[in-house]
Amino acid sequence: MRPPQPEWLIQHGLNRSNIDAVHTGDCWAAPKSGRCRPATREQALDALRGQVPASSVPCVPERAAGVIGDGG
Ligand SMILES: [Zn+2]
Repeated sequence: MRPPQPEWLIQHGLNRSNIDAVHTGDCWAAPKSGRCRPATREQALDALRGQVPASSVPCVPERAAGVIGDGG
């Protein structure tokens, strides 16, 4: 049994109120330090819609951008 893995990770900046990036839960590039916190799909998509350009998040599959588009 593997430990449960979050579907998404939100990477915070030095200022915790900032979001630097959104990662998929299995992203190899996501920092393993405390700067990445587990996030729900909604939280991740919300971040992508708002502060974090999807194009700056290479690990997020293109389908994530599609989901965002579907959501309006
Ligand atoms: Zn990533």
